[in-house]
Amino acid sequence: MNIRDLLKDAKSVCLTGHIRPDGDSVGAVLGLYTYLQLHFPDVEADVYLEPPAGKMKFIVNFDKINSDYPDHEPYDLMICLDASNLERIGQAAKYFQDAKHTINIDHHFSNTYYADENYVEGDSSSACEVLYGFLDTDKLNRDIAIALYTGIIYDTGVFKYRLTSPQTMMVAGKLMQYDVPTDEVIDESFYARTYDENRIFGYAVMKSVLACDGRVIYSTLTQKELEDFHVTTRDLEGIVPQLRLTRGVEVAIFAYETTAGDIKVSFRSNDPFDVNEVAALFGGGGHVRAAGANMPGSLDDCIQTLLIEIEKRL
Ligand code: 5GP
Ligand code: MN
Repeated sequence: MNIRDLLKDAKSVCLTGHIRPDGDSVGAVLGLYTYLQLHFPDVEADVYLEPPAGKMKFIVNFDKINSDYPDHEPYDLMICLDASNLERIGQAAKYFQDAKHTINIDHHFSNTYYADENYVEGDSSSACEVLYGFLDTDKLNRDIAIALYTGIIYDTGVFKYRLTSPQTMMVAGKLMQYDVPTDEVIDESFYARTYDENRIFGYAVMKSVLACDGRVIYSTLTQKELEDFHVTTRDLEGIVPQLRLTRGVEVAIFAYETTAGDIKVSFRSNDPFDVNEVAALFGGGGHVRAAGANMPGSLDDCIQTLLIEIEKRL
């Protein structure tokens, strides 16, 4: 299947990813947008995403992202990338409801197959890797390659996580042929932090607590702490992956207040613990080794509830 077959005769296309978009969502959505501009200039394409982290600005057409979700006549086609269920597309759901045809391109094996056509590869590293399979790969350009490379870097933790396959490396290699400045992309999308991000990272690690005989680690941040460190919930990347690397730990939990009484939880695990299963108990999801959920209540209650569920499964 090729993107040409997916488009059929659509004149207007709506593109979106998931809420709190990460490097894979932004890379896939903008990579596809730029590809459509290049090869299908007559198609009206619009991009809707919640505001991504500013560090993703180096991806071409970042300025085309619309975070206001204005009313729009029904699109001929809606394509959702990297979104495992309909809730994950957030306010873009209104375009989905009205769209004449919908397509879901994803790599979460928890995907709910919510669109008219669903292309879900649960063993693929990233939405960008899945998307690559739909493109004429000899007809990319440097901007598209950078967008897709960013998504792969981001979702594989720089070619590290379990879903990094020979195919992932093959795709990354092909993308490199378009002159991707790989060192800069990797630093920019994965390692670089602002001063404030570095400080909250250190603080969250310092605050971390071992539980269940050292087999679980957790850290929490209140809204007040985020304010004190001049950061927002978008500045917390890298914290839970570092907690997972603590020797002896099987499960890492990182929970922070988004608004008073609403908590976002991120899970990471080491083989064989399945955090997707735990996240699903609370309406969340993701992957076996990386998952998330939203939970109402206080941070303390949330951690106590999670520790009980996790301990049962250790
Ligand atoms: P993170 O912890 O980096 O926010 O997310 C890790 C993984 O879990 C990602 O694949 C992400 O898509 C998924 N994830 C995070 N939060 C949620 C959630 O609330 N619901 C679902 N279904 N998946 C989530
Ligand atoms: Mn992804």
